[in-house]
Amino acid sequence: MDTIKLNLEDIRNRIAQAAEKSGRKAEDITLVGVTKTIDPQRIQQLVDLGVTNLGENKVQEICEKHPVITGNPSWHMIGHLQTNKVRQVIDKVTMIHSVDSLRLAQEIEKRAEMMGLVVPVLLEVNMGGEETKSGVSENETYALAKSVAEMPHVCLKGLMTVAPFVENQEKNRNLFRKMRNLFIDIRGKFDHNSSITFLSMGMTNDYEVAIEEGANIVRIGTGLFGARYYG
Ligand SMILES: *Cc1c(COP(=O)(O)O)cnc(C)c1O
Repeated sequence: MDTIKLNLEDIRNRIAQAAEKSGRKAEDITLVGVTKTIDPQRIQQLVDLGVTNLGENKVQEICEKHPVITGNPSWHMIGHLQTNKVRQVIDKVTMIHSVDSLRLAQEIEKRAEMMGLVVPVLLEVNMGGEETKSGVSENETYALAKSVAEMPHVCLKGLMTVAPFVENQEKNRNLFRKMRNLFIDIRGKFDHNSSITFLSMGMTNDYEVAIEEGANIVRIGTGLFGARYYG
């Protein structure tokens, strides 16, 4: 009974503890509830429990769920975004976490200008260097940030990473620390009007260590809803 509510309470407590360890408060950390493959009824339950930021990794799912979930949640695009789908999604999301190429950034800029929008984005960094994951390398981040910072209809808000899957979250601590250092570096170089504020890292298996190392957005799905079934 009410599994989502119990899971959420547990996660909120752990977020608060991890925030405290890094000298911050629970309110400094944004929980994005990852709702990919989850049916609208359970998503609505989560929103009604007060989780107002939702993450999806497919444009089609955002477009389907966006009109049916009430309570005006903020939608985050967290998965790989194809350039030919940019125009369908930029007016529905609060932020795109997964900008991983100049070509994609340019397409967002072009479409945002046509639609009269400024789209907040994070650059996705493949800090683990895994071949199967998207994201720019640590070395490419500076160049991409420089290009995006000059785009009038794209607002660079920070960095995001998807760390390798690990059983023991301590194994990702060093990677999160490297992300934090890169974030500080990029912020120092490009942030002339303090818009670079978000470091999105940490998922069900490693969000506590991610927060301890400086994350202020965590993206959690399995921890809230249980294991996903891809039908
Ligand atoms: C699925 C997904 C998550 C959530 O993963 P869980 O392990 O279920 O918490 C976070 N970020 C991205 C980019 C995802 O695709």
